[in-house]
Amino acid sequence: MIAPRADVALMEGYHSPQVDVPVRLNTNESPEPPPQPWLDALAAEVGRIAWHRYPDRAATALREAIGSLHGVPATQVFAANGSNEVIQTLLLTFGGPGRSAAMWEPTYALHSHIARLTGTAVAVGERSADFTLDLAEVDRTLERGAPSVVFLCSPNNPTGLVEPEPVVRAVLDRCVARDALLVVDEAYAQFAPWSALELVGEDVPLVVTRTYSKTWSMAAARLGYLVGPTWAVDALHKVVLPYHLDALKQAAGTLAVRFVAEMDQRVARLVEERGRLVAALAALPVDVWPSGANFVLFRPRGRAGADVWQQLLERGVLVRNCSSWPRLEDCLRVTIGTRGEDDAFLAALEEALT
Ligand SMILES: *Cc1c(COP(=O)(O)O)cnc(C)c1O
Repeated sequence: MIAPRADVALMEGYHSPQVDVPVRLNTNESPEPPPQPWLDALAAEVGRIAWHRYPDRAATALREAIGSLHGVPATQVFAANGSNEVIQTLLLTFGGPGRSAAMWEPTYALHSHIARLTGTAVAVGERSADFTLDLAEVDRTLERGAPSVVFLCSPNNPTGLVEPEPVVRAVLDRCVARDALLVVDEAYAQFAPWSALELVGEDVPLVVTRTYSKTWSMAAARLGYLVGPTWAVDALHKVVLPYHLDALKQAAGTLAVRFVAEMDQRVARLVEERGRLVAALAALPVDVWPSGANFVLFRPRGRAGADVWQQLLERGVLVRNCSSWPRLEDCLRVTIGTRGEDDAFLAALEEALT
């Protein structure tokens, strides 16, 4: 039997159990489906697709629609099958053998994982005890790793912390000085008070990644994108597989943009619900981190996180078990759900903790 490449053989892969329980609050999806009129429009579109032909390779209508959302031309938009494929294409293009990527833990595990898969070395720095980013540590990591690609995640998954604008600007200045590309992963940006999109420009080595998976209630569609300078988008188009976005997905993403008001309303409801959940958690024996996203990181006091995770599961509530991740000992992450789901989670947690 042929063995996988030596470095792949040593990898753990991505682990997030998909368990069929009544309350699934483990992967930060939207608890609400997209609007029915969107589904109706998409159903009508299915009949108009020329199924015997390859789809528009440049995904022009989709990229124009996304560009109109952010006030940029389609030439500044790159779309792919989820922002994970955006990240993969970035690393295949700007990383790869002989190059490295930097990130600061704890953060989104797929930044370092996909880097390694693409043969990109990783330079991993550490966040401070409160999970904020210390610029002296940033300098040490950049000096040590000399990365071509630098990752930030804001709001950061799994901590929920929003990277303050001065910090992002300071990291960007360092990327300019060092000829590195800054990638700000904004999968949860609509839940946060500011976005690095305002820093994007043709002469700036910055790309901002977004996804349809969370705020757009379209995790099943597998669609993500980035906004950045044209030179970066052009380079990515040389690397990504031809016709990587199927026609139905392009239609789904293009039509979704018509329903931005509904998306904003869903986000507002979730932000309000987040406030209610955090307030309720404050009455329980858990430590909670402030969140600018649609999830909350918490740590049961004096209890093994894995044990509490199991007890929640036995009560039909699935949350993300971060308890074995470096720096996140005993921590769990819960997605903001519907009021009913969150009440079920709170009741189960209260039982598990008493
Ligand atoms: C969920 C998430 C994504 C989304 O990935 P998709 O491939 O678009 O579903 C990207 N980045 C972070 C930090 C996430 O939490």
